[in-house]
Amino acid sequence: MSDEIKFSSMGGIEIPPREELNTDLQIEELPLPEVVYLPVKQHIGRPGKIIVNKGDYVKRGQCIVEEQEGVSARLHASVSGEILDIKEIPDGMGGKSEAIIIKRDQNSEFKRIDFSLKNKKEKSAEEIREIIKNSGIIGMGGAGFPTHIKLSPPADKPIDTIIINGSESEPYIAVDDRTMQEKTAKIFRGLELIKKAVGAENGFIVCEENKKNAIKKLAAESQNWPELNYQIVDSLYPHGAEKMLIEACLNREIPEGELPMEVGVIVNNVQTAVAVAEAVDEQQPVVDRIVSVSGYGIKNPKNLIVPLGTPIKELIDYCGGLVSKKSILIIGGTMTGFRAESTKIPVSKTGFGIIVLSEAEYKEYESRVCIRCAKCVDACPVYITPNRITDFINNDYLEEAEALSLASCIECGSCAYVCPAGRPLLRWLREGKARVRKRNN
Ligand code: SF4
Ligand code: SF4
Repeated sequence: MSDEIKFSSMGGIEIPPREELNTDLQIEELPLPEVVYLPVKQHIGRPGKIIVNKGDYVKRGQCIVEEQEGVSARLHASVSGEILDIKEIPDGMGGKSEAIIIKRDQNSEFKRIDFSLKNKKEKSAEEIREIIKNSGIIGMGGAGFPTHIKLSPPADKPIDTIIINGSESEPYIAVDDRTMQEKTAKIFRGLELIKKAVGAENGFIVCEENKKNAIKKLAAESQNWPELNYQIVDSLYPHGAEKMLIEACLNREIPEGELPMEVGVIVNNVQTAVAVAEAVDEQQPVVDRIVSVSGYGIKNPKNLIVPLGTPIKELIDYCGGLVSKKSILIIGGTMTGFRAESTKIPVSKTGFGIIVLSEAEYKEYESRVCIRCAKCVDACPVYITPNRITDFINNDYLEEAEALSLASCIECGSCAYVCPAGRPLLRWLREGKARVRKRNN
């Protein structure tokens, strides 16, 4: 395994692969937790409205939070049991978030649906969008945007192509890879339904060229879906990002600050496609998700299917625990995730990975002065200048940072990854964007 970083001529970087830790591990079911902690807001947009009370008995799959007007999403109980409390819990990043806490009823029946397509249901486009809304489906690749909103573009933005994105390219994570290997038919079925929901003519699944087993499965399954297809892209980071993917697959460029619908495209993650198929055919809302627990700091890496709201401590314990007390815990991917302060954080709809880095893997650089090497500029897939933009942000020249296209940053973290001076560029870029949003409100 080479640790050399290679730069792509299109922007983006080739980072040393680490998903080999998890890519051959079949998805396992985590033993059920005693208590789940369900944050009310697990999506981008407005939090929903809680419709249950402390002391209520709820069933797995029952709606407990309804969406509000605008960009918002529902939430469902992931286990049957009694609501112990509704209160703020630590979010693991120094803040707090309101959560519904459910104690599992040990005697209740717990069913996961099977992966076959024996219950296919035919629905109209409107019915599919309504089911997606009622099932609390959001972008499960990490973006968290409510899917029913994404699939309701304005009339003057017709969609001709749906891309189902299986090209996760962050190191260690094998969630999309395993989903493509184990739920192949459901991904095609989800694509068929999403295509119908928006009236798109074309639809295909995208997989990176280094996921050989997933490609074999897609190739075999595609025989059953004559109107759908799959495409293979380079395994370069961050080519799984929507903007990069659309350019690579369709040669269409999204204007700065605009969404893929501007060029007639909607992109959904493979797990989102599966969630759509399960919602329409099996009436199952989003109550579980697949998580990669990986890194050389965990004893037994695994890919697990987990009820939402399960504290990450249970996943870590099931994987044999930490190699050393000095291991570093990252929630999400190593490029875009955050360092967790606590193992009490619950698994959320967007929580695709728990990475435990060993001391040897984690190099905590002290941020040093910029040496003007421009490696961050070479690495940036959207061709902006992270070194100059962050200089402006750090000196409170927000307008100048905006003039250099701060808004185009897709927060991929490539610049910070390659910076030899250890400058936390991604953190600064996110802070700059947050300050711009605050100023504009
Ligand atoms: S500036 Fe933004 S888009 Fe460019 S490399 Fe850095 S994080 Fe990625
Ligand atoms: S990579 Fe780091 S040191 Fe090099 S120009 Fe960018 S910010 Fe400066």
